[in-house]
Amino acid sequence: MLQSKLFPKTKKEAPKEAESINHKLLVRAGFMDQLMAGSWTLLPLGFKVVSKINNIIREELNKTGAQEVLMPLLHPKEIWNETGRWDKADEIMYKLKDSRNKEFALSFTHEEIFLDLIRKHLLSYKDLPIALYHFSTKFRNELRARSGILRGREFLMKDLYSIHATEKDFWMYYKEVKKAYSRIFTRIGFKFRITEAEGGVFTENKTHEFQVISDGGEDTIFYCDKCSWGENEEVCKGKEGGNCPSCKKGKIVKSKSIEVGNIFPFGTYYSEKMGVYYTDSKGKKKPVWFGSYGIGSTRAMGAIVEVSNDDKGIIWYPQVAPLAVHLIELGKNANSVYEKLIKAGIEVLYDDRSVSAGEKFADADLIGIPVRLTVSAKTGDKIEWKNRDSQETELFSLSQVVNRLK
Ligand code: ATP
Ligand code: MG
Repeated sequence: MLQSKLFPKTKKEAPKEAESINHKLLVRAGFMDQLMAGSWTLLPLGFKVVSKINNIIREELNKTGAQEVLMPLLHPKEIWNETGRWDKADEIMYKLKDSRNKEFALSFTHEEIFLDLIRKHLLSYKDLPIALYHFSTKFRNELRARSGILRGREFLMKDLYSIHATEKDFWMYYKEVKKAYSRIFTRIGFKFRITEAEGGVFTENKTHEFQVISDGGEDTIFYCDKCSWGENEEVCKGKEGGNCPSCKKGKIVKSKSIEVGNIFPFGTYYSEKMGVYYTDSKGKKKPVWFGSYGIGSTRAMGAIVEVSNDDKGIIWYPQVAPLAVHLIELGKNANSVYEKLIKAGIEVLYDDRSVSAGEKFADADLIGIPVRLTVSAKTGDKIEWKNRDSQETELFSLSQVVNRLK
């Protein structure tokens, strides 16, 4: 990718209204652009990051046997009335009428749509379990959309839904997804905690949130400094500095955090409301056990920026960096190096512009690609290597560079 052709150029100043780190840095570095409050275009670099996050999610969910689909975003009112959410979720939903006065909602989630799909095809216990997921836009009439891409009114979510014949099978899968989510967030590079949270009006069960520790977060969580115990502020009865109610040995820590994922054990509540029944081995009709599991892909990108940056810009974790290498030429053409790196299968942003060294290095720091390679008269036939998160530079031959990158 040639930087001279990359859209758009970086900006010296953050937008005036930007309050959060992700808003300032992702806009300045050219990863995203705001249409209006809570509504963003993913620009080429931002789209690459979100695609990498999505691929990690996809790989780990496929391991659980889930299958990828794509469900519609325009939903008829009738389906939402079946569970009562047309009224109960009124404040979060965007609703509209077409020219014939038929009412619709724009998707803010897909539980009802998934169950409607299932009941048209579901027959017997032999068809179960079923787990489907998709990546799609969600529309939510969020009151405050001030945290950059962390809280959009339109955002990208991966949502997975599963149905099961028995409670036992359901909980087995729920635990499997919990593990898959832990692998996903570990691979992305997050320091995260799993916290228990309130299920809301639709389940008596506790739900589980995946929370990235960050001062830029809107949530507050409590967790143990020794074991895996953690609770969201809403359900937590413990106090900061108190003893862990689980292991009794650790102390309770309080922290701001960003919720990047949430899993919900719904039991048979939704399936009974929507009449999603299967026939068991004795021919009896029973409601399916149902779970729903979400990850905010675009919020995850914002969360990375909140926790991995310095005063110069973003510091991408290698697994989700838009490109692996930022190649910079200073007064000496680096095209042959670029070609060889590409040939070796390495993703390169090549700064081929005729601007000052200072400008190039400042942009490289702002954009935050993990490895910076510089070719100049000073480096001779060697290439200067610098990691984004370090001050040190080293000189290598091209073949050494390729080997290190692989
Ligand atoms: P929050 O408590 O932050 O409002 P939520 O609990 O309503 O989120 P869920 O319905 O659990 O969110 O959605 C699943 C995931 O989608 C969340 O864990 C989060 O990563 C993401 N998400 C939710 N709302 C937004 C939003 N407004 N903008 C961006 N991502 C979001
Ligand atoms: Mg949630």
